[in-house]
Amino acid sequence: MMPVLVLASHDAGKLSASTARAVTAATQIGGAIHLLVAGSGITAVADEAAPLAGVAKVLAADAESLAQAATAPLVALIESLGDAYTHILGLSDAVGRDVLPRLAARLDIQPVTDITAILGPDRFVRPVYAGNGFETLVSPQVRQVLGIRAAAFAPAGEETPVTVEAVPVPEADGRVRFIAAHRTQTETPDLGTARVVVAGGAGFGSREDFVMLETLAGRLGAAVGATRAAVDAGYAPNDWQIGQTGKMVAPDLYIGIGISGALQHQAGMLGAKTIVAINKDEEAPLMKLADYAYRGDLFEAVPALIAAFEKWRRV
Ligand code: FAD
Repeated sequence: MMPVLVLASHDAGKLSASTARAVTAATQIGGAIHLLVAGSGITAVADEAAPLAGVAKVLAADAESLAQAATAPLVALIESLGDAYTHILGLSDAVGRDVLPRLAARLDIQPVTDITAILGPDRFVRPVYAGNGFETLVSPQVRQVLGIRAAAFAPAGEETPVTVEAVPVPEADGRVRFIAAHRTQTETPDLGTARVVVAGGAGFGSREDFVMLETLAGRLGAAVGATRAAVDAGYAPNDWQIGQTGKMVAPDLYIGIGISGALQHQAGMLGAKTIVAINKDEEAPLMKLADYAYRGDLFEAVPALIAAFEKWRRV
């Protein structure tokens, strides 16, 4: 079997935690794994990737044109690697959603995205109907371009580092140019890979009260999420939104507070192992879905939880 090419994800000079999960997914296809680290000034990232268990070789593509995961140069780079790979696997994240379909179009094949399980080289599981069902898809194509949901796979461990090999980068066509990156500064863990997520909804009623949720998340070392209603009302920034049109999370523990649990929100959090809901309405869909549901006023429950975790931390 030909080797599998995995696209490493990295940001601000650091390998993202999702890359180790993509490597695990690739091991389920079979064949050796080559990990492509593409970017500008990525020597340290490539070295960070070299010990990932299961990786046979790290390919380092270092060029100014590849800065900020610019889509067209990245696709041109992968194409330049030729037919050496039957399977090209990346993440179904902001970069992957851009790169993978474009690459697949260039190769004249159908990409398979949002994969949550790999059953073989051409059998993949992915959610359908906004996460309310899963389909097993057989993709009988000669080559496969695959996008995985990182949170659905465990991270690969580490072993003796493999060699890092520099690969030539094709000349950039100059039509795409990086201008600026506007970053959200946050101290909280990454939503996509967090083990604990605390999410808030319209029930908070104001931006000022939503801060309570952030305090609770801080006590728990959790990532903060929100519903679209909370984001639209300005309680939380856009990149905290969980759901069909937001982020997908699959933590060990999800705590949803003041959230009704609309299907579009559920689409982003059904993968959580344990679901806790706090709502004053016991008929809310999230309360019915939850493993643990607490019916009550969040303005009492959240301060009580903050105080309890504060006390517990001091013990
Ligand atoms: P509500 O439905 O208004 O629920 C608020 C809840 O808070 C209620 O259950 C209420 O009982 C409870 N509450 C109120 N006060 C208190 C209190 N004091 N104590 C305890 N509980 C209280 N939504 C998403 O979240 N993510 C998406 O990605 C997304 N994508 C969408 C895409 C499309 C195409 C469409 C049409 C909609 C999408 N939505 C999405 C919106 C979704 O349909 C819901 O409108 C939204 O999820 C509701 O958010 P909410 O639960 O915060 O608000």
